[in-house]
Amino acid sequence: MTANLFTEAELAERLRSLAEKYGMNIEDFLAETIECQDCIESYHDSGIASAIRDGWSGIEWVPESPRANYRGLCPECKNQEEQSA
Ligand SMILES: [Zn+2]
Repeated sequence: MTANLFTEAELAERLRSLAEKYGMNIEDFLAETIECQDCIESYHDSGIASAIRDGWSGIEWVPESPRANYRGLCPECKNQEEQSA
């Protein structure tokens, strides 16, 4: 069996049912806002792909967070972590 990518419609439907399951509205669900786990000031709202390009790492979904859909480590904190390691 080959791995199939979701079509856009299937993906939208899947996300819609997930959003419903967690009582979120689809726009919030799709917003892909990311907060830094270490410095609360750092925030990224251009989507996960863009955040990863900018150097964010360890991004995970945090439906319980009031201000972001995802949490990760911002490039600045990652640098500090590497320097202190
Ligand atoms: Zn940070």
